[in-house]
Amino acid sequence: MTGQEKQQRNAISPVLHAPFLKRFASIQKNDPEVYSILLAELERQEYTLGMIPSENYISPTVLAAAGSLFNNKYAEGYSGKRYYQGNVNIDSVETLAIERAKKVFGAEHVNVQALSGSAANMAIYFAMLNPGDTIMGLRLDMGGHLTHGHNVNFSAKFYKPTQYTVEKDTGLINMDAVREQAQKERPKMLVSGATAYPRIFNFKKFHDIASEVGAYSMADISHISGLIAGGAHPSPFPFTDVVMTTTHKTLRGSRGALIMCKEKDRLDTATPSADSKKLSLAQKVDRAVFPGLQGGPHEHIIAAHAVALGEALQPSFKIYAQQIVKNAKVLARTLMDQGIKLVSDGTDNHLILIDLTPFGAGLGMQGAVALEQAGIVVNKNTIPYDPSTPFKPSGIRLGTPCLTTRGMKEEAMKQIGEWIASILKDAKNEQLKQTVKAKVHVLCEQFPFYTHAE
Ligand SMILES: *Cc1c(COP(=O)(O)O)cnc(C)c1O
Repeated sequence: MTGQEKQQRNAISPVLHAPFLKRFASIQKNDPEVYSILLAELERQEYTLGMIPSENYISPTVLAAAGSLFNNKYAEGYSGKRYYQGNVNIDSVETLAIERAKKVFGAEHVNVQALSGSAANMAIYFAMLNPGDTIMGLRLDMGGHLTHGHNVNFSAKFYKPTQYTVEKDTGLINMDAVREQAQKERPKMLVSGATAYPRIFNFKKFHDIASEVGAYSMADISHISGLIAGGAHPSPFPFTDVVMTTTHKTLRGSRGALIMCKEKDRLDTATPSADSKKLSLAQKVDRAVFPGLQGGPHEHIIAAHAVALGEALQPSFKIYAQQIVKNAKVLARTLMDQGIKLVSDGTDNHLILIDLTPFGAGLGMQGAVALEQAGIVVNKNTIPYDPSTPFKPSGIRLGTPCLTTRGMKEEAMKQIGEWIASILKDAKNEQLKQTVKAKVHVLCEQFPFYTHAE
């Protein structure tokens, strides 16, 4: 099939989406092959319900910055201390991103150069730990992240992991158990934060436990940083030693990460690499990112971070963050009312973890595929104490950040919850999936997103 044929089959309305698509006119003219794929992806994003909780739809303004001419500059180093000439404007835009991040979160020091969340976590460990030091984080199959000490990850190869869990009957982290384990294992770094935990993190308690056992406290707020920015989840600032967030999840920015830390090193036990003089924590973090692990920063992405952080400073972002949580709560309530089991029986944040074991073990993939056939995009996920394997998990993870960005509210969530429940209960019913898919399309038409240029 040629690009043109594909284009003709596409349901994207040339009129409705024209203002947004205008920005890609040069791709359309000069590379129709890429343009046809872009159109197909626009159609997918516009007419399916994006419910993967780690994803979001960025504004056309953030998108414009990410596609800007800041891409063209090499800028190894930091503002005022670059290894290349010609960085006067790069310095301005990077400094602006840093200042805005400080304002959004109340951080003392910010590094905006990490290329993504996993790379940022590597930089944090590299800055603050010696190889072989103990990291204590939430187990992957309990909702933690690979970089929190999972055995296939660098974080368990270069460091010694000890992992905490959630309680089997409640799905919650038991802070007394965390304290006990920390006292026994004496980690150098106590990591809080998760990818699939639907409840509130008590960052203060994590920090207090870290202080008691002589560990650094680290909060990985990748999933919930937008909620924190909008006041919809308690903040790990100002007490946590180091905070990492990806920029592309609830914070609704371009892909990347922020490392935010205290100026002062509370423990100062790691051996600084090349030079022996004492460094502040802020200096250690900066040096770990560059020259420790990375070369030239992606300044177009940093410009996009500046724009996204500017959006997060607007009063409307508070309303957005609160609405994400309100939507997730209504969705959770609807699913439970329809007899669907949720880990921890609900949610306090943007995400929901469905436990499919009442239908049988290992049905996460089947459920996710059935939902995609109905235009609802979620991901399979392990549930705590999953009776099946990580490759064939028994859960589904879904959330409300993208739908809330599109402007959907409680009423739509109720509708969507009912559709999801009906499909999970009858995953092989092709007629049902087609009916729901048609209704999803109509709902999406009521909440178009990439129709405007600004
Ligand atoms: C997403 C995520 C990361 C990793 O981010 P990438 O950009 O995918 O590397 C790290 N930690 C947590 C808690 C996350 O949710």
